[in-house]
Amino acid sequence: MDNKQGIIEGGPSLLKIRYLVSGGIITNYKCSSKCKHCSYSSSPKWPDDYMTPSMADEVFSMLKSLGCYSVHVGGGEPLLKPGKILDVLELAQRHNIGIEYIETNASWYKDEASAKAVLKELKQHGVHTLLISIDPYHNEYIPFWKVKALIETCSEAKMNVFPWLMEFWDDIDAMDDQSPHSLDEYARLFGQDYLVKLARRYGLNLKGRALKTYKPLIMRQPFKRILEESKPCKLLSGIYHFHVDLYGNFIPQSCPGFSVPLKELVHGADPGKYRVFYSLESVGIRGLVELAEKEYEYAPKTEYAGKCDLCYDIRNHLVLELGLDLPDLKPEGHYKYI
Ligand code: SF4
Repeated sequence: MDNKQGIIEGGPSLLKIRYLVSGGIITNYKCSSKCKHCSYSSSPKWPDDYMTPSMADEVFSMLKSLGCYSVHVGGGEPLLKPGKILDVLELAQRHNIGIEYIETNASWYKDEASAKAVLKELKQHGVHTLLISIDPYHNEYIPFWKVKALIETCSEAKMNVFPWLMEFWDDIDAMDDQSPHSLDEYARLFGQDYLVKLARRYGLNLKGRALKTYKPLIMRQPFKRILEESKPCKLLSGIYHFHVDLYGNFIPQSCPGFSVPLKELVHGADPGKYRVFYSLESVGIRGLVELAEKEYEYAPKTEYAGKCDLCYDIRNHLVLELGLDLPDLKPEGHYKYI
């Protein structure tokens, strides 16, 4: 998406969003699992924070003003405590924002009766589809019987299921469904290259914990070549699959760990306040390197597993090593709980 069709007026002036089409609400980052493919670095360690009703009210009204009339709900695991998201769903209804689906990993499934009660409540709040995660990464934490039982219960409760992804069903079903299974077990059963092939089959976004998992397998590139190939990352141009998190921050389509409040982007955010974000948005990795070397004593290594590895190395330096409280590198949990 380029600037003509898109949303950003970067340039030397303001960071601004003009319109959004479809995206997701991250109601919480906390999750029951710590999946190796999670680009949001969700895990049980995150604080038990959920989007508040007043934040939801503000976010939905902004989304409507930007032309976005439907969202999905994701996390973390949004149904970790189903009661915590009901107010958010109610506010979506009040604003006439459709809920396309709620993403869930099925870990909360205990028995049919309690699951039916949750599904009934969700339906009463305008939710008619659950996206249920089906992949070996989740199966490291969640026994497959829970996924199967939730799908069955959805069918009985007339809740639609968006299986993500059926492609992995047979792989997972080849294991005992009563217990979780490590990726090592998958590699023993399907071959040592399973982890690499899995990333391709899944279409993995190599950011956050996913990058950490796969970094040892990614070919190294010289630092200098990464800089030569630098181009703007266009963080604001993802108008079809953006996210807004529980703190009201706009999370770019494929790059978590950045945060600019949506309410500032609507009116035009000051690039001087969000310098890390702006350097990547406007110049790309070369811009961030220049900023980090000049102002934050960043000493580059000779090679990296690509530009995003370099980007994370700098961001980790700023957040974890220097302990800086930078407004565009939030939430810190993205770096801390990887
Ligand atoms: S270099 Fe940084 S901002 Fe650009 S795509 Fe990679 S992680 Fe995202």
